[in-house]
Amino acid sequence: MSRIGLVAHDDKKEELVAWSLKHRDKLALHELWGTGTTGGRIVAGTGLPVTRLLSGPLGGDAQLGAMIAEGRLDALIFFVDPLTAQPHDVDVKALIRLATLYNTLFAVNQSSADAVLAAI
Ligand code: PGA
Repeated sequence: MSRIGLVAHDDKKEELVAWSLKHRDKLALHELWGTGTTGGRIVAGTGLPVTRLLSGPLGGDAQLGAMIAEGRLDALIFFVDPLTAQPHDVDVKALIRLATLYNTLFAVNQSSADAVLAAI
């Protein structure tokens, strides 16, 4: 069982919920963590159990980053919106930096998320 972090920027949340529904059976084998709003949307849309952290702009991305630094997260699926400025961009960058630093399995869109899920 792997510990997977799930995050999506607002314009990508629907896409992540649809992706999670498509991969529901496989995701159910793992321990799921999500930022507040994303986690809530996945729970509502799929029925999967997701432990919800703070909302991203209020520290949820930072919490996922801390989990990575502490070796408590195995994979990160983060559907980023490349077309919209984010108020918490520094936290987003920190999370991406830590995922890179710690060689975390890391997906930023559906194709890479498919590959990550196939690898765990
Ligand atoms: P949210 O946070 O799931 O609470 O909206 C995601 C984000 O970092 O934008």
